[in-house]
Amino acid sequence: MSPTGNVSEVLIKTKASTSRILIGESIENLGNYVSGRAILLVDKNVQKLYKDFFKNYDRILIEPGENSKSLDGLKNIYGQLLEKGVDRSWFIIGVGGGVATDIAGFVASTYMRGLRFGFVSTTLLGQVDASIGGKNGINFEGYKNIIGVFRQPEFVICDTEFLKTLPGKELVNGFSEIIKYSLIADSELFDYLDSSYESILALEPSSTHRVIKRCVEIKADIVMRDEKESFERRKLNFGHTIGHAIEKLSGISHGMAVSIGMVAALRISRAVSGLKKEDEERAVSLLRKYGLPTDFSYGIDEIMGAIRKDKKKEVDSIYFVLLEELGKSVIRKMKFRDLKKVLDDLC
Ligand code: ADP
Ligand code: ZN
Repeated sequence: MSPTGNVSEVLIKTKASTSRILIGESIENLGNYVSGRAILLVDKNVQKLYKDFFKNYDRILIEPGENSKSLDGLKNIYGQLLEKGVDRSWFIIGVGGGVATDIAGFVASTYMRGLRFGFVSTTLLGQVDASIGGKNGINFEGYKNIIGVFRQPEFVICDTEFLKTLPGKELVNGFSEIIKYSLIADSELFDYLDSSYESILALEPSSTHRVIKRCVEIKADIVMRDEKESFERRKLNFGHTIGHAIEKLSGISHGMAVSIGMVAALRISRAVSGLKKEDEERAVSLLRKYGLPTDFSYGIDEIMGAIRKDKKKEVDSIYFVLLEELGKSVIRKMKFRDLKKVLDDLC
């Protein structure tokens, strides 16, 4: 059915499917997008806060936190699906942030060789990033998302009302990815994030809608050109190579680590891809406006050690995303020793 009112619909068309991303749609209309019997895989915190919305559905609860994205966590869910008699005619709906939607997408793609599925995304990070693009993965032996599948959900409902109960630190995680989109692909979005930060931080409805929609459009565009990440999709990893290393080493949140990773990537961009000093400074100051950390004070050797373990590495080099200007990114293959040299020179 067609969405109503103030809903924006972005389509992700790939060889195998069309995925509908519905920004501003309400959870109350979930039934309009589902056919057959449905079962929700719901984040426990979300269930607690919004149980009335789910009371008419069969449910399996997901323990919040990355630990659920594990083989043990999956075992528990497959067991419950069997117990409840879920078969191929059922529809699976993941409800929550990135953890719940990753698990739901993976389970729906593997249980009985695959059931139809969709998401209700309830975090800012989920609505702009984690639930969009068809990557469904779990963690294994310390490696994030190392086991998984590419499969697009039939729909993603991004109900912005959910964001009102989201803890501040979770919002900040989302803002980090939002700023990332502006840096890699859209200088107009950058200017808007810069000039309207007060209303955006206050989650003023029209600003929130506008920002999420634009981020989803950018991601959809990249995913449609390169669903399986053979090249272009790597741009979405801007700030993430060093960010992941910092996340692992320090245990700070993903968004905060990526913010520091972006600061490092901005500096490297000045040295390698011609980014202007003034643009670097504007980007760093935007991160600060959104409460994100920008101090890069980690040991280079430790960071290089963690990067070498990154699953996306080639033998002696890594694809690194750099900026030429605000809103314009390039992917460069860099040798580890050259990356280390640039970092040494900068720090
Ligand atoms: P992400 O989307 O950032 O990957 P998670 O799935 O880990 O994050 O969710 C982050 C945290 O926010 C979890 O503790 C989860 O239970 C909680 N959460 C998710 N959605 C909401 C919401 N709408 N209101 C309050 N807490 C939420
Ligand atoms: Zn990220």
